[in-house]
Amino acid sequence: MHFIEVILPLSLAKTFTYRISEAEYHFIKKGMRVAVPFGKSKIYTGLVLDVHENAPTLYEAKEIHQILDEKPIATEIQIKHWLWVADYYMCGIGDVYRGAFPSGLLLESETIISHKPDVAVNDSELSDDEFLIYEALQHQSSLKVQEIASILNRKNILPILQKLIAKDIIFLEEEIKETYKPKLVRYVRLHSKYESGSGLEELLMVLKNANKQKEIVLTYFQISASEKKPITVKKLIEASNAGSAVVKSLIEKEIFEEYFLQQDRVLFKGEKSENELKLSEAQENAFNEIKDKFTQKEVCLLHGVTSSGKTEIYIKLIEEYLQTGRQVLYLLPEIALTTQLVFRLRLYFGDKVAVFHSKYSNNERVEVWKQTLENLPKAQIVIGARSALFLPFNDLGLLIVDEEHEQTFKQTDPAPRFHARDAAIVLANFHKAKVLLGSATPSIETYFNAQTDKYGLVTLSERYKNVRLPEVVLVDLKDKHFRKRMTGHFSDFLIEEIAEALSLGEQVILFQNRRGYSPVMECLRCGHVPHCQQCDVSLTYHKHKNQLRCHYCGYSIAKPTNCHNCSSIDMTTKGFGTEQIEQELLTLFPKAKTARMDQDTTRGKFGFEKIIDNFKNREIDILVGTQMLAKGLDFENVSLVGIMNADNMLHHPDFRAFERSFQMMTQVAGRAGRSEKQGKAVIQTYNPNHNTIQQVTNHNYIGMYKEQLYDRQIYKYPPYFRIIKLTLKHREYDKLKEGSMWMYKVLSQNLNLPVLGPEEPAINRIRNEYIRAILIKIPQNMPLGSTKKTIQKMLNSFETVAQYRAIKLTVNVDFY
Ligand code: ADP
Ligand code: ZN
Ligand code: ZN
Repeated sequence: MHFIEVILPLSLAKTFTYRISEAEYHFIKKGMRVAVPFGKSKIYTGLVLDVHENAPTLYEAKEIHQILDEKPIATEIQIKHWLWVADYYMCGIGDVYRGAFPSGLLLESETIISHKPDVAVNDSELSDDEFLIYEALQHQSSLKVQEIASILNRKNILPILQKLIAKDIIFLEEEIKETYKPKLVRYVRLHSKYESGSGLEELLMVLKNANKQKEIVLTYFQISASEKKPITVKKLIEASNAGSAVVKSLIEKEIFEEYFLQQDRVLFKGEKSENELKLSEAQENAFNEIKDKFTQKEVCLLHGVTSSGKTEIYIKLIEEYLQTGRQVLYLLPEIALTTQLVFRLRLYFGDKVAVFHSKYSNNERVEVWKQTLENLPKAQIVIGARSALFLPFNDLGLLIVDEEHEQTFKQTDPAPRFHARDAAIVLANFHKAKVLLGSATPSIETYFNAQTDKYGLVTLSERYKNVRLPEVVLVDLKDKHFRKRMTGHFSDFLIEEIAEALSLGEQVILFQNRRGYSPVMECLRCGHVPHCQQCDVSLTYHKHKNQLRCHYCGYSIAKPTNCHNCSSIDMTTKGFGTEQIEQELLTLFPKAKTARMDQDTTRGKFGFEKIIDNFKNREIDILVGTQMLAKGLDFENVSLVGIMNADNMLHHPDFRAFERSFQMMTQVAGRAGRSEKQGKAVIQTYNPNHNTIQQVTNHNYIGMYKEQLYDRQIYKYPPYFRIIKLTLKHREYDKLKEGSMWMYKVLSQNLNLPVLGPEEPAINRIRNEYIRAILIKIPQNMPLGSTKKTIQKMLNSFETVAQYRAIKLTVNVDFY
């Protein structure tokens, strides 16, 4: 008898055994999909992990319904990598499988199918079954797979559905249909008739009697002489004080011609870099060093300051790897950034660039999946966020992890809670590929690995074209408040700087980190924030208990009535957000065009891209935003960055607070002065002498690194200790409290390790569930495998305690 071992797309650690016939046995290979029954009446798409002869001992193996693929759709290395992810991050292999596959390839009985309202379908092109399904969906806008199965009165319908999906006739209801087209900008240039040397004279003759038109033409010549870059209609109208009707008539007269460009495709710098990229000397050196490191090391960190042109170095490196015919994976921290990058890469690599991300339609994702699997030229370079790591690569040669310090590389929910950077390094190892990590502000862990010679390190400390790093100016909020030099949240100094930038036609970015919904107490007079005595993190205000608590050890005090530092009773917990800043700008700079970029304004599909486009097109003068602004965006006309309040970042209750503050401020400041003249960053703070703020001011990454590393050692955090976080959730407060205490006790008795908690997080109830967390700290040099086994055993016995069974427990390895 023959059996297969199947992964189901469910949150289960186990695989399941199904029986197959002799004929199926000769056909089935590892990595093919099969439709299988599960439970009473469910059908799932499973993945074949193995073919064998061993009947299961605990249950009777069911037969499969159907084989869904003609050849494997997942590769052996890929599955090996998934198994590593499941093992390392302590989750089910089914979780990884489910997260990896585009949902269109994972049809199951509960999947809801809809038809496309406005596709013209030629009946004759459909098989009888296809037509029946199509017809059923004309009457009902959506149906479950199992409902369709009963309409057709057969169980093997997944392949038919798949065909209809591929034909774009039906789709999964969960799908997002909108696609984004970057905005086109209208430009004018002189008609080619007048391009010769005597063009201007000739023109002035033609326009002898048309003064307004003459003025515009003169303005055009002025602008193009001084700026040497494409001229937008908008700019021309502004500069010449003429109406758009005049420009229109000049176009009709064939004196100007209009043309449209995607903002991203414009080479503002006037350089002909199409296909010909020339590295600066510093870039060239870094490039050669990287290649040199790769002869000895699998991983190399490129520590290059903001705007040093890391992307250009990646491009050169990709170019070399492409010649070997191997595949390249380029990981970004945020899918919203792909639009920008894809345009940049397509300039050099044309249609060899494929994009894989969740906002793309299912069919597009399936297409990239297949191209990657077959190692087609079209997907030789794959760009994507962390999920692109799970594609069926055939022969990876190079992986690039840009902005490697970004925490978005770590998935928090749902499982697999993996870190894409770390999982990328493991994947590279399987492929014998190289990994380049890039950042202006590397994570402490990565820099530590580079310092200890695990990774190669290449440093690029000058900006492209030798533009100087932004000058960082600190504004002491305590002093400004005292001297009444504040208007709302703006100091007089910041207001002046904004006014100056605007008067020069330059753009401004204002940053307000609003991430902490759990506010801290802060003294309005001296800026003091109460800290935990044992953990070196700030205490968080818990409103309903009127307490300040430490999120790491549980230490708590009653909410103080006056400041422990200066005794002032002027204590506040009120944070302020981007919205308030935008409001204040309306009164301060009524003429400026402002926009806000945060989770509220970018929630809509492609909201982020739209704002970026508008800002690049200079339709926005001042952009106010949260940490999204810190993510490697390249704007050429921003001369000023204002950080409204550095302190709330510093006081985030997190052992990474200082590291993150440094990264955030350095990255946001790095958006200033990227093209020619040195930019400026104004940081408003109550703590101008805080080490981290001083380190930002002096562009002193190494200083930050050393200081943080010291703290990490003392307080037992990464890179010296690995952290596993257990989160427990339940609707009943007391049951959860009891259950987490049980878990905590068992863990601390069985592990000879620091176990902290069970701690109540700041937001201790989400969607009616209470939450508790337990942290386990494991020394870096201790074998992880056996510790995890012990933890897993404890988790298993927790599940067997009847009264705790309903408590949901999640495990987050290398919690970020
Ligand atoms: P980083 O990622 O290091 O912050 P970018 O790669 O975004 O920097 O480069 C900053 C700017 O300088 C970009 O607009 C980029 O096009 C430009 N640039 C960098 N290197 C070159 C080069 N060798 N040739 C042309 N332009 C370059
Ligand atoms: Zn005080
Ligand atoms: Zn504490």
